[in-house]
Amino acid sequence: MAGTVVVIDHPLVQHKLTLLRQVGTSAAVFRALLREISMLLAYEVTRDMPLTYVHIKTPLASMQAPVLAGKKLVVVSIMRAGNGILDGMLELIPSARVGHIGLYRNPETLQPVEYYLKVPEDIAERRTIIVDPMLATGNSVSAAVKRLKEKGAKDMRLVTLLSAPEGIMHFHEEHPDVPVFTAAVDSHLNSHGYIVPGLGDAGDRMFGTK
Ligand code: URA
Repeated sequence: MAGTVVVIDHPLVQHKLTLLRQVGTSAAVFRALLREISMLLAYEVTRDMPLTYVHIKTPLASMQAPVLAGKKLVVVSIMRAGNGILDGMLELIPSARVGHIGLYRNPETLQPVEYYLKVPEDIAERRTIIVDPMLATGNSVSAAVKRLKEKGAKDMRLVTLLSAPEGIMHFHEEHPDVPVFTAAVDSHLNSHGYIVPGLGDAGDRMFGTK
């Protein structure tokens, strides 16, 4: 089964992404832009949430008015860079629950190793939005989704800022059931696993650690 990839090509997203990519953009501006883009990504990834109708009264009349129905949301951040997207998403969907998963890459095996996992107990009853700005090799995100499935998550979507074609392919080989929402699919990965042209290390750009 081929996985779904949704490229969010809204002009506001694309404009802000160009500003974000630029090498001279400061950490403070980077964080602000990421927060703004994340709100727009949240808007797109929740577009198909089901609605139900409730009876309300306006000052002029009674009406049947739409409200969100059914499943509630959980946003799971893949630390640390995922936290930049999480903050913006929570501005738009403040009642969403939040999960965190921390993975580092074992320098010998290059495989992701989990060091932290905390998600809502009722994750199986929620729609899960996993956030990580960079879908590069796809190793960490694939491992994170595997763990979330073990925790019971079923209805998942992955939101990234930039994706490499190699990362999308790898991710969907393992998780064809999880759609990827991304602002751009870049050219390729370099030999160090960085997305080209990309934006560099998202965590370092966000927190000014390099
Ligand atoms: N992680 C990053 O932060 N940047 C990349 O280009 C690839 C992985």
